[in-house]
Amino acid sequence: MSVMDIFETMEYGPAPESATPGLDWIKEHQPFGLFINNQWAKPASGQYLDTINPSTGKPLAQVAAANSADVEVAVSAARDAFELWGKTPGHVRARYLYAIARHIQKHSRLLAVLESLDNGKTIRETRDLDIPLVARHFYYHAGWAQLMASELPGYEPVGVVGQIIPWNFPLLMMAWKIAPALAMGNTVVLKPARYTPLTALKFAEICQEVGLPPGVVNILTGEASQVGEALVRHPDVNKIAFTGSTDVGRGIRRATAGSGKKLSLELGGKSPFIVFDDADLDSVVEGVVDAIWFNQGQVCCAGSRLLVQENIADRLIEKLRNRMEKLRIGDALDKAVDIGAIVSAVQLQEIQRLVNQGVEEGAVMWQPSWACPTEGFYFPPTLFTNVSPATTIAQVEIFGPVLVSMTFRTPAEAVALANNTRYGLAASVWSDNINLALDVAPKLKAGTVWVNCTNMFDASSGFGGYRESGYGREGGKEGLYEYVRPSWETQRIDQPASPSNGHTPVGTPSIATETDEQHENGHAAFSSTTLPPIDRTPKLFIKGKQERPDSGYSRDVYDPQHRVIGQIGEGNRKDIRNAVEAAHAASGWANSTTHNRAQILYYIAENLAIREDEFIRRIVQQTGRSYKDAAAEVQTSLSRLFTCAAWADKYEGTVHRPPLRGVVLAMKEAIGVIGIACPDEQPLLGFISLVAPAIAMGNTIVIIPSEQAPLSATDCYQVFETSDIPAGVVNIVTGDRDALAQVLSDHDDVDAIWYFGTAEGSQRVEMASAGNMKRTWVNYGHSRNWLVPIQGEGEEFLREATQVKNIWVPYGE
Ligand code: NDP
Repeated sequence: MSVMDIFETMEYGPAPESATPGLDWIKEHQPFGLFINNQWAKPASGQYLDTINPSTGKPLAQVAAANSADVEVAVSAARDAFELWGKTPGHVRARYLYAIARHIQKHSRLLAVLESLDNGKTIRETRDLDIPLVARHFYYHAGWAQLMASELPGYEPVGVVGQIIPWNFPLLMMAWKIAPALAMGNTVVLKPARYTPLTALKFAEICQEVGLPPGVVNILTGEASQVGEALVRHPDVNKIAFTGSTDVGRGIRRATAGSGKKLSLELGGKSPFIVFDDADLDSVVEGVVDAIWFNQGQVCCAGSRLLVQENIADRLIEKLRNRMEKLRIGDALDKAVDIGAIVSAVQLQEIQRLVNQGVEEGAVMWQPSWACPTEGFYFPPTLFTNVSPATTIAQVEIFGPVLVSMTFRTPAEAVALANNTRYGLAASVWSDNINLALDVAPKLKAGTVWVNCTNMFDASSGFGGYRESGYGREGGKEGLYEYVRPSWETQRIDQPASPSNGHTPVGTPSIATETDEQHENGHAAFSSTTLPPIDRTPKLFIKGKQERPDSGYSRDVYDPQHRVIGQIGEGNRKDIRNAVEAAHAASGWANSTTHNRAQILYYIAENLAIREDEFIRRIVQQTGRSYKDAAAEVQTSLSRLFTCAAWADKYEGTVHRPPLRGVVLAMKEAIGVIGIACPDEQPLLGFISLVAPAIAMGNTIVIIPSEQAPLSATDCYQVFETSDIPAGVVNIVTGDRDALAQVLSDHDDVDAIWYFGTAEGSQRVEMASAGNMKRTWVNYGHSRNWLVPIQGEGEEFLREATQVKNIWVPYGE
């Protein structure tokens, strides 16, 4: 056979990597113990689990089966270690992370072999992608440990972090979790996936080698029901970081609701791979190979929906079939295979089930003519055409080497089709017209968009989802905030935000007793007894107009002496629905220029200032606080509007330079429709402090004013009406705060909820928001001092009002 023949047929022989170093290492260590306090411990249950080599289907190793007793020990080890590690200087932590990165490189071959044996993914991928990215992640975060004090002033580590990772990128997902956690001074208890624990155990050995202080990293192998759930529910765990399926993520959201645990979720996806007719089709074909057959399609951001412009669809599909015919499948340790084994028999069955369903639903299935190996868990690359967008295979994450293709005619249709999913993890756009690609990228609801490339990852560029793909980012500076909290939160003197009995808002700054000072300020002494109550027409503010509540009811508003001082409309479910609809219809606000948004915020301040005295008196009337105190609240509200106007055109993205020829544009985008429940403390300032950042960043909102003192917010109707703010950007529904917040949390068209009320209300919001995986920001019943800038207008507000989209733009020929 000539070289030319070989080139044509690609029929070359196997090129196996030796399994021996991996198997020897397993033999030396098994049965593996649990890694707690830098030591190997026997599991409390005395039980062990087999792990299987998916390439052969045969047992590979025995690992300990931890249970809740082991979780107790590990969490307590992590808590003890946190006492010191949390205070260890950044430079010292940086040295440890740097040492870990170095040791990963030293052991890279063994790690790559173990990963391929354990997961079934090809050695080409583990050697050239997974392990180098793992090392890079630790190097990159060594840098952030070094810089934490100067770059994140006012933040501190959250404490003990429970981390739960999946089987598709075992070591890489572990690095994505452990590196930022340690860099920011946290300690961790990590649970690897049941199917793929081995590289995490090798990593444990590396922690020992580099002399990481005991208890900083603890690794518990075992089953989800025994370890994962116990970690999630453990009261001494301060944060859960999870990557896995959306259903389990939803369960974790519910299980942690109201606990005050920080939570980041990286969940499933059904990512579009959009091909315009001017794209280079040969590059596209290689892109598709990387998008859906990389890691056997078991990739959360796999480009599993091929959307092709109609006029080139036949040509592309034919090229793709030719390429599929040449893909090679086999033992993960063979350097010459493109596709390895599926992780487990169960996963293989699930893929087969969904493929069968696709055929039953009428799509046309195509697979190459060659057969898969009979030993081990293999599934051939599969292409579906004639797929209708609503069918199961077009909507459900198959998590296997299965591509579904659909066609579109116009860019607008491509965007609509791409966004027709409950997920929002990633997207890929192929066009030689960069104007077109960069026009489409911001319109895609996805955390990452790759232009003329796919499945690119780097520690510098945060990764994470929109919608039901979860929230939080891993990587980049934005990923660090998942592992810190503002220092003022731990320093505050805890007070409940909403008293359950009287009508006096608490948590307000001390209330001066100064009729005298009112005189000093040149204002007539004010007493609510000397003035008749101001009658209000109780309405809601929806779509830029004052609307009567659907219920036709109103409720009285009282002063601290329990005298009626006005009324508000009693909003209900239907009013919330109308308000959400109005907020959606105003989504063009996100595309208005930042200059324009800033101007409108200044204009709101201007109009509020004209009525300053009226607003001061209203606060006094509702709260019984002094005139001076109320005046300070109004002044701070004006200043807050200025702050948010200032940030509107300055809270910008970043351009990352990952190690490739190209750039990554990290764009801060609006989240969408935010539902907001206001605090009772500082009725005007609490309201303005939440409205202003949300709309400054391009969101539209449905806001429920303070229940006890709502009149400051309803007085703003006229301010908004005269401030050029487009109809529907701000919608105000008054009434029972918790009942209305519940409706907002249940609503599938609301993208995020901010709730400032009681601990129980916070829990209900977190629980209900799991339905469509809304982002939540709640106060767990703790009050803030809205007058203090760090608590009332810090960067935290802007971060909560945005999500980062990373657009990868390679360049060069
Ligand atoms: P899971 O979401 O079930 O598992 C991910 C991790 O969570 C594992 O460590 C698992 O432990 C653990 N876990 C499972 N249930 C709980 C729980 N109730 N509480 C705490 N931890 C838990 O994914 P699967 O492995 O079962 O895969 C199922 C499907 O999920 C796949 O077909 C795919 O569609 C999707 N998936 C998506 C991933 C992504 O990155 N987006 C990654 C993996 C899967 P254990 O391994 O012991 O079960």
